[in-house]
Parts: sequence; structure tokens; C-alpha cells
Amino acid sequence: MVKICCIGAGYVGGPTMAVIALKCPSVEVAVVDISVPRITAWNSDTLPIYEPGLDDVVKQCRGKNLFFSTDVEKHVREADIVFVSVNTPTKTRGLGAGKAADLTYWESAARMIADVSVSDKIVVEKSTVPVKTAEAIEKILMHNSKGIKFQILSNPEFLAEGTAIEDLFEPDRVLIGGRETTEGFAAVKALKDIYSQWVPEERILTTNLWSAELSKLAANAFLAQRISSVNAMSALCEATGANVSEVSYAVGKDSRIGPKFLNSSVGFGGSCFQKDILNLVYICECNGLPEVAEYWKQVIKINDYQKTRFVNRIVSSMFNTVSNKKIAVLGFAFKKDTGDTRETPAIDVCKGLLGDKARISIYDPQVTEDQIQRDLTMNKFDWDHPLHLQPMSPTTVKQVSVAWDAYAATKDAHGICILTEWDEFKKLDFEKIFENMQKPAFVFDGRNVVDAEKLRKIGFIVYSIGKPLDQ
Ligand code: NAD
Repeated sequence: MVKICCIGAGYVGGPTMAVIALKCPSVEVAVVDISVPRITAWNSDTLPIYEPGLDDVVKQCRGKNLFFSTDVEKHVREADIVFVSVNTPTKTRGLGAGKAADLTYWESAARMIADVSVSDKIVVEKSTVPVKTAEAIEKILMHNSKGIKFQILSNPEFLAEGTAIEDLFEPDRVLIGGRETTEGFAAVKALKDIYSQWVPEERILTTNLWSAELSKLAANAFLAQRISSVNAMSALCEATGANVSEVSYAVGKDSRIGPKFLNSSVGFGGSCFQKDILNLVYICECNGLPEVAEYWKQVIKINDYQKTRFVNRIVSSMFNTVSNKKIAVLGFAFKKDTGDTRETPAIDVCKGLLGDKARISIYDPQVTEDQIQRDLTMNKFDWDHPLHLQPMSPTTVKQVSVAWDAYAATKDAHGICILTEWDEFKKLDFEKIFENMQKPAFVFDGRNVVDAEKLRKIGFIVYSIGKPLDQ
């Protein structure tokens, strides 16, 4: 029986390993983490992350061929294949701060693998890492080993939160990069044998190590660039009377472009896009390619501009001040069908409104009050102004309340701002909401989810991103 161990039981490690366990009953999978609360939650009825379909997959395999444990060393020692899916955030201090990937967790995992291993192993990079990371990891593994052979593979994960299980069941592609040596090819084949239990042969791509590592950064950069491109167009649409939905539809009809990922919004979020582009920028700079670095920086600048533009629109529409006005924020997660709030645009929008002294009442079906308070008090690293790090003051935090539903959040509010495209927001009783709001009642739709015309007929003043104000 092949034994797999995955270090890191997070948004990637948990779901990917659960799906491997489900699809490969003859493989034993242990997911290990240093976080006791996370592992306790994985072993309980309330999993640590919300992801449609995940509960069902975990319930089918847990205790049979899927185990969650904090005994990291034991499971690594026993494994044939060790996936490493630890977090790789942006460095906050020292060389490359604000851009480079912080590989501290990776390095400590690699040192531990080298220390505890008593048999040959395949070590798989599941985390998103800078190109050439495998070279550094190899040095650590070879240096510390006692004659044990390690083969390192890059197998980046392309799942999207909110559709992780669907994406893992039917991936567009699985990418495996390895050394072009006899041992490297054998390691690639061993991992391919696992995926080929359910992924069609033609969707399993094999490349050299550096192509696989760079492809993940490139894919995220392209996706984020698409969002920034359409968001840049949304500003021009508002200035000229064009409608961004019509423009996106017309543009997406070109088969070379395609219709997906062309929705205008308040901006992208999530733990990956910004971090991976910053990482790409840093790699370009380190490789003497400042022009290429500048190109990718613009993707983030437009994203920041879109959030600022949205806040400015709210304030200017509400007679140039939101001071002491109640604003209902509907949605805090960075996208629908996840409870993940890492780098969500809601953080910047709320901070912007609080900066103008608004009172905000937040409702999100999957985000807890603790998460919101933590996110709004956490420092954000500003890569252009690294010294301007200011936590929110206690007074500002008191201006934030968390509501149990959209009706409670909007009661007595002067304005509503929609920041996540949850399906339930489309079905709200806006007539009832309008009755209970201050007048004039504003709606600022940062995801273009509500029917603006219908809302205008009720009496709302509606601003939809990228659409003419009089439509
Ligand atoms: P996460 O923070 O949810 O999970 C990482 C886990 O690793 C944490 O639970 C942490 O406690 C654990 N960990 C850290 N060091 C450890 C160690 N030495 N031993 C054991 N456990 C350790 O992160 P995530 O969202 O799952 O992302 C993991 C990686 O996958 C990142 O590189 C990310 O860029 C990449 N990725 C994420 C997504 C996504 O949608 N979240 C998608 C594709 C790729």
C-alpha cells in the first residue's frame, strides 16, 4: 500500500488529500499539521474550512484511508510520498519584504523531512513557490540525509476556493514537474499513477521542474490580470456611458478571448493572486527584468485603484460624507461559497469607510465575527509605503457591528454595499429592506449581483460597478 503524507492541513492540503483518499482507496493518506485546533476540527463534524461537497468526501474516507494528525514526524517517516502544502505568504521584513515569498515554513518542513526520514522519499511541492525553489529544497534534503535518496517534484495546485471539490474531481489539468533523470522520471510516474486513478491521461501534463513551478505563478498572474483589465475598463465605462457587462460580453465572444473571468467587480482578493504577483515581480527584479516587473505591478495597482474608486464613489454619492452614517456591508468573504477572508477587498473597503467615520454593519453567511474583527484590526503591508503600518484604533473597531442576517444589517442603514456575490443576496426582499432604511437609500453593488432596474423602481439610488449611473 502506497503511503502519502501531506504537511499542511489548510485550504489546499485538506481538500486535495481528501479527494486523493476518495479516488485511490488503496492509498493511505495522512494529513498532518502543527496547528492542534485545525487538526481537531478536521477530526470533528465541523471542518475548519467551508467548501461545498467537502464534508461528504471527508466523511466517506476519514478513519478508513484518510487520517488527520498532529504527529507530523511519525507520518512523514512512514510515507513514500510527502506533499508539502504549507503556507508561503509574502515576506513582511528583511530582504524582499513586501514582495518575496516567505519560505520559512517550507524550509522548516524540508529540514524536518531530512531529519526524520529513514527511507527514500518523493517530496512534492504542493504549495505555490518561487521558480527554482526545488533547487534550494534539494540542497537542504541532500545535505541532511543519511544516504537517503529524495526526489523532488513540483505539482502546483490549481483549485479555486468555493469550487475546490469540483475542480479536484475534474481538473482542467494536473501538472507534474520533475528532474529529467532516470530517478526523476520514475518519481513523476509514481505521482502520475496516483492521479491517473481518476484524471484522464491527456490532462496530466509533465514538464521540467522550473516550468511547473513558474506555470503556477503565471496562471495566477494571467487570471488576476484579466480581472484588472476588465476593472480598468469599468472605470472607462462609467466615464463614458458604456456598460461594462455589455463590453465584457462583446469582448468575450471572441473565441481567442473567451467569456470566463470577465466580470467587473470591486477587485480581486484571496490569499493567492496578490501574493503570487508580488512574488513574480520580485523574481523578475532579481533576474534583471525591471520592465517585466513593472508590467505585473500594474495588475495590483489597478486592483488597489478599483477598491479606492469604489469607496470614493460611496462617499461622494452620499453627499461627500459618510460620517456617522450606517452602511450595511453585505458579504465579507473574498468570493462566494467560501468563508475565506484573506486579502478580501471587503477589508480595504470597510477600512476606507471607517476612515471617513462611517458606522458599518456587516453580514456574511460564512464569516464569523472573530474573523471580521481580526481582519479589520490586522496591519496590512503597504509595499509602496512600508513604514505606514497602522492598526485600527479601538474606537474605529467599535464602529463595526456584525449582523446575523441581511435584514438586520440593513435596518436603519443609509446605504448598502455589496462586496461578495452570494446567491442569497439576489433573492432578498428589497421592498422590505427599503422600508426599513434611512432615505434616500443607496445601494452600491460591487459585484453587479442585484437587478439595478428593479431596485430603482422601488426607490433606491443604485450604483453598479462599470455601469452608467442613469441606467
Ligand atoms: P493555509 O494557511 O490554509 O494552510 C497551510 C497550513 O500549513 C497551516 O494549517 C499551517 O499550520 C501548516 N503548516 C505550516 N508550517 C507547517 C509545518 N512545518 N508542519 C506542519 N504544518 C505546517 O494555506 P493554503 O491556503 O492551504 O495554501 C497552501 C499553499 O497552497 C500556499 O503556497 C498557497 O499559495 C497555495 N495555494 C493555495 C490555494 C488556495 O486557494 N488557498 C490554491 C492553490 C495554491
